[in-house]
Amino acid sequence: MPETGPVIFAAGTLMPVSSPPLQDGAVLVRDGRIESVGPLSEVGRENAEVRFFPNYAMVPGAVNAHAHLGFRRKDRPEGGKFSGWLGKLIERLPEKESWTAEAARDSAREAVEAGTTYMAESSPYGECLPQLAESGMAGTVFAEFFPHEIGTPEEAVGYILDKARGLQEGLPRRVDARVSVHSVYTVDPESSRLAARRTREMGWKLAIHLSESPEEVEFVQSGTGGLADIFGSNEWGGAGVSPVRYAQDVELLAPETIAAHLATGVSGEDLEILPRTGAAAAHCPRSNEYLGCGVSPVVDMLERGVRVGMGTDGLWSSPSMNLFEETLFAVELHALEGAVGLELATLGGARALGIEGETGTIEAGKWADLALVEVVPGDGDAERDVLEAAAGGGVVATVVGGDVIYNRPGV
Ligand SMILES: [Zn+2]
Repeated sequence: MPETGPVIFAAGTLMPVSSPPLQDGAVLVRDGRIESVGPLSEVGRENAEVRFFPNYAMVPGAVNAHAHLGFRRKDRPEGGKFSGWLGKLIERLPEKESWTAEAARDSAREAVEAGTTYMAESSPYGECLPQLAESGMAGTVFAEFFPHEIGTPEEAVGYILDKARGLQEGLPRRVDARVSVHSVYTVDPESSRLAARRTREMGWKLAIHLSESPEEVEFVQSGTGGLADIFGSNEWGGAGVSPVRYAQDVELLAPETIAAHLATGVSGEDLEILPRTGAAAAHCPRSNEYLGCGVSPVVDMLERGVRVGMGTDGLWSSPSMNLFEETLFAVELHALEGAVGLELATLGGARALGIEGETGTIEAGKWADLALVEVVPGDGDAERDVLEAAAGGGVVATVVGGDVIYNRPGV
């Protein structure tokens, strides 16, 4: 890594998220990390190159807590009904192979140009890791596995753990590979339990999709419905409980777990289970809307102390990879203040993924993960002004660990 001197990034408005906004705020970056944060008049006294953007806002980079890179915007399967969409997706897996890598590259680029600095990506057997690694973003690829394609639960879990370890070799700093139990309807209970135990023993995070659709709720509860039509009835569907309760029963819920969606059928009992287990949530409201999956009880979860981050999901269920746009949608959906939204998009995701000591706010000691947005916020809800600008294509530069990985020409 070439040695570069310290750099000061400064903006007309600095929103560290961990502390109140600053006018003409500055960040001193050394060796990729934030050394100090404060008014440009003070930080600027350091002997360092100053990059000052007076008519812009600087915020922490977006942390995308649940995404899939390997989809493209065109020809996405029809939405409206989750099981119908999933059936079409599965049918098209063979043809998709020829363009998955290209789609992943484009999706990652789109995320970078929208100010994303960290991404938790889930893909079958970690297939999109190369594209995440070359994007410049920091992140984790969660390798999904499908035990019926492999063998016994013991063999399936052994296989995916080896696979994740293999993927970890030769990666850029701050990119990693972990394991995902795709969902409670595609992975049997024994494989789920084993994967959860073994990954926890190693201190690994675990990603899952949970309580996403009405069909998942019906499948876990009674073993019938649209998902049984696709996957057949199996010995674990029809458990007579909610997906969240079932996930707890098979040991999938723990502080290391990040559960995507939690959109449909999250009961009062489930809302007690989630904070008790310490599992985190990734909220993907635009995907939920497209697939007829209802509205996640995000406000209830936040009130109960569940760690919540935002996720775009992938381009076959979501209109963009812009996490700030996803967050603005959530702000409108749940009538949240802009500051709550900006926190969900940044620190919330970092907390959900257990990396809040490394990123998610602009604070001394963390990596310099930053997004510069073309906006001069007004006197009202300033954070919302920033979210609206970033949602509408206003990100002009993205900085990961002090490296400018995107810079709009002319800025
Ligand atoms: Zn997903």
